Amino acid sequence: MEGYIHSIESMGTVDGPGLRYVVFTAGCPLRCKYCHNPDTWDIKNGKKMSVTEILDDYEKYREFLKEGGLTVSGGDPLVQIEFVTELFKSAKQRSIHTCLDTSGCGFTFDANKLQKFDNLLEFTDLIMLDIKHIDPDKYKELTGGNLQHTLDFLEYISKKPNISIWIRHVILKGYTYQKEYLYKLGYHLGQYKNIKAIDILPYHDMATDKYEKLGINYPLKDEKPMTKEHAKKALIVIEIGMKDRLLGNKPQF
Ligand code: SF4
Repeated sequence: MEGYIHSIESMGTVDGPGLRYVVFTAGCPLRCKYCHNPDTWDIKNGKKMSVTEILDDYEKYREFLKEGGLTVSGGDPLVQIEFVTELFKSAKQRSIHTCLDTSGCGFTFDANKLQKFDNLLEFTDLIMLDIKHIDPDKYKELTGGNLQHTLDFLEYISKKPNISIWIRHVILKGYTYQKEYLYKLGYHLGQYKNIKAIDILPYHDMATDKYEKLGINYPLKDEKPMTKEHAKKALIVIEIGMKDRLLGNKPQF
């Protein structure tokens, strides 16, 4: 089976545990204002590659990937859910740890669609779920998409005991870096027991050149990059929200 692949990083360090072989699939329905990969939006920009081709290439680096594994990121991998399912199924046959990096786009509890997600989740060890905003209106403003898909996906995967969950959240002044929203995010997350890590990613502006080359207007031209210090502070607020939920306290906002 073939998928549309934007690029491959043979030894990635930031997309899951250990050193990882990261496949960036093409195609994404969202249009996040801070997206640093606008060239992944259109599935047609991807190069066709087969499952075997990718995994045979993985084998060349296997000795370095022992503590890591395979991550599929994007774009959003769920756009090509059947292909990613085949890739993960074959990866598990080769005893490779699998990680899905997604926003949960397109997920619904609709029985017709659920089967496809179940097929994929059967071969998924870890999900890095990108929650872009906790407020539905702000989510729409920031990404053009619907937050409910992400939250429903989180609810669904939280019931899968064999899957670990990492949460990813980009902080950006004027959008997500606000005490109220960070706390609300934490309060929401506090109800789930299989969240193993929360990764706060400071917004950076390194994609501006890409936008220029693609002739797309970059909507955050005037935004300043955020720092690791901002990320630490954001995490503290999120953790307060989580703790309040865990202890059964009323939300502060
Ligand atoms: S989900 Fe990822 S690839 Fe898609 S627009 Fe947002 S940041 Fe870009």
